[in-house]
Amino acid sequence: MTAPLDLIVLGAGPAGAAAALKARALGLSVALIDEAPEPGGQVYRAPSAGLVGAPAEADRVKGDELRARLKASGASLHLNQRVWSLTAGFSVIAIGPDGPLTLEAPNLIVAPGAVERPIPVSGWTLPGVIGLAGATVLLKSHGVLPGRRVVVAGSGPLLLLVASKIVAAGGEVAAVVDAAPRASWFGRLGAMAARPDLMAKGGRWLLQLLKARVPLHSGAAIRAIHGRDGVASVEIGPVDAHWRPTPGPARAIEADAVCLGFGLLPSTEITRLLGARHRYEPELGGWLPEVGASLETSVPGLFVAGDGGGVRGADAAPLSGELAAIGVARRLGHSGDLEQQAIAVTARWRRSARFGAAMSALAMPPPGAVAMIGAQTTVCRCEGLTRATLDTAIAAGAWTLADLKAATRCGMGPCGGRVCGEAAAMLIEAATGLSREAIGQPSARPPLRPVPLAAIAGDFAYDDLPIPAPAPL
Ligand SMILES: Cc1cc2nc3c(=O)[nH]c(=O)nc-3n(C[C@H](O)[C@H](O)[C@H](O)COP(=O)(O)OP(=O)(O)OC[C@H]3O[C@@H](n4cnc5c(N)ncnc54)[C@H](O)[C@@H]3O)c2cc1C
Repeated sequence: MTAPLDLIVLGAGPAGAAAALKARALGLSVALIDEAPEPGGQVYRAPSAGLVGAPAEADRVKGDELRARLKASGASLHLNQRVWSLTAGFSVIAIGPDGPLTLEAPNLIVAPGAVERPIPVSGWTLPGVIGLAGATVLLKSHGVLPGRRVVVAGSGPLLLLVASKIVAAGGEVAAVVDAAPRASWFGRLGAMAARPDLMAKGGRWLLQLLKARVPLHSGAAIRAIHGRDGVASVEIGPVDAHWRPTPGPARAIEADAVCLGFGLLPSTEITRLLGARHRYEPELGGWLPEVGASLETSVPGLFVAGDGGGVRGADAAPLSGELAAIGVARRLGHSGDLEQQAIAVTARWRRSARFGAAMSALAMPPPGAVAMIGAQTTVCRCEGLTRATLDTAIAAGAWTLADLKAATRCGMGPCGGRVCGEAAAMLIEAATGLSREAIGQPSARPPLRPVPLAAIAGDFAYDDLPIPAPAPL
């Protein structure tokens, strides 16, 4: 029989990995679960099998160190396990290559990271258009370029990261198109100065793009992506301070791929499913769970770490993981210098978090950005719903995401609102002037991820089904 667990950590990115390591160092019995085949999360993602011999970049080296430390830590690692349901108390229900898995513990640290924030533009459903954050996965994990000639568009620091990675990998970046005006970057210099090392890293990306003579457009956005079976050209034009297209001249850029993204949203489906209280904070990506000083949510024993608690970036994430682990140890009654440890980690976390929050705010679209979505542009890809269809339902009184879902099925497909929810909320906000609190969030219900029906219903042999004997005539 295995010993009962003190703690489950969900998500083996920098936040969850640091939480598990710290919890082990404090003597807790810990299980760490992730759907990826190896720990590392988005930043320290392990390369796919074919890339193992490729030259190691700094993030890969850090990731390998992290993976080695986790394997030696005594935490039980459950990889390739997709968590699709959870219940209070806590049971974590997953499906993996060998079937279903349920873990139970009185404490849960949720570290699920963030998801992309797309703003739908005309042509964004064409093959060759991928998310900006998704492009990092292609480049890092698979060593694959998004295309031969790529437009990198949207907002925030991921623009520079992705464009510089494409250049470094030998690809061509046709243009970087940033909706934010250049001045907004200067406006964040104070917060950036909290981490001069990270600021220098961004400076190196910029230098690399300038050296490669990549055209950099600020205060501009994609008007439309054209092509029949894939991307052929991209039309860009100026936007005003609210990111609304202005009458200025549009220009066409030949390209066969587009990386498009407007920052990241905290992944809150798990904390929503478990009934934690949330608040809306645009500077940190939008909706996030309310937490106390030890990162415990309004549900006792449920802690949140990393970008899932507000997008603060990869350097703040491990510190929040450590802080949450200390919080769990204190909740379990462990003694020692835990309070002093928490104070020291909090101070370091605040410094990194200030930088990360400034980067997150740079990417955050103002409400006016909704003007980028044309009437005939598909917003909900799962259900094939255009802006015009959603606008009609909103005009008829669908003023919350739940009402809009009931009226149109927006958010009811496999993405569960992860892709379309933010754009749908922006449309309601633009039409009604209601606050995000009034508009609400997409509801979280199991299954959180698409899972085979057998994982829910259990496997059965047809012949074993109990068929009642026929009633006597
Ligand atoms: C697609 C993407 C790519 C990014 N690339 C970069 C980058 O290259 N550089 C950079 O500085 N920042 C990048 N970011 C931002 C970066 O993710 C964070 O700043 C940092 O990694 C946050 O760490 P974290 O531990 O909170 O989350 P993550 O690193 O995202 O880790 C979260 C982990 O939770 C797991 N998980 C989530 N839900 C489930 C579930 N239901 N079941 C099982 N496992 C689950 C995921 O598999 C993942 O391993 C990226 C973000 C995204 C969304």
